[in-house]
Amino acid sequence: MEDILKKLPELASLKQKSFKKLAQKIKKHPPKNFDYLMNEIHEAVFEHINCLACANCCKTTSPIVTEKDIERIAKFLRLKPQQFIEKYLQKDIDGLWMMQQTPCKFLDTDNYCLIYEVRPKACREYPHLDRKKNIQLLNLHLKNTKICPAVYEAMNFLEQKINT
Ligand code: SF4
Ligand code: SF4
Repeated sequence: MEDILKKLPELASLKQKSFKKLAQKIKKHPPKNFDYLMNEIHEAVFEHINCLACANCCKTTSPIVTEKDIERIAKFLRLKPQQFIEKYLQKDIDGLWMMQQTPCKFLDTDNYCLIYEVRPKACREYPHLDRKKNIQLLNLHLKNTKICPAVYEAMNFLEQKINT
């Protein structure tokens, strides 16, 4: 996995143009059952990609943390919401709360999340391949091809399915 992660930004950069074209094509003529197709692709890539061998999202990006997340995580950590905010969060450029640092402070050495049961919604949903209205997430997937090997592979799969 280390090797793949090292090469991923370059591989994804090389394919950005064709992934962008693909996204435009899909938006112009949305395939029937697109969510179903993305779900199938999600299942296929995660049959062999193990997030515990990767954790690149937790190491390189800071998830948005909602007010609901703050309440839930603070309770789990036996902190007051304000204490949790001061210790772990900062505002992003849009004024939303996000984790203070990367790698995430809750990422354990074995790639387990120390707050897995109560982790932020954004972490639960990442990398968004099996979410509804997936057509609206294509631009996000394009960005994520540089971070997440599963998304990179999913976009390649999608390209094959749409272009053949
Ligand atoms: S979601 Fe993607 S980046 Fe995050 S751990 Fe899994 S494979 Fe890696
Ligand atoms: S809270 Fe957990 S799942 Fe979310 S970024 Fe941190 S370690 Fe990863």
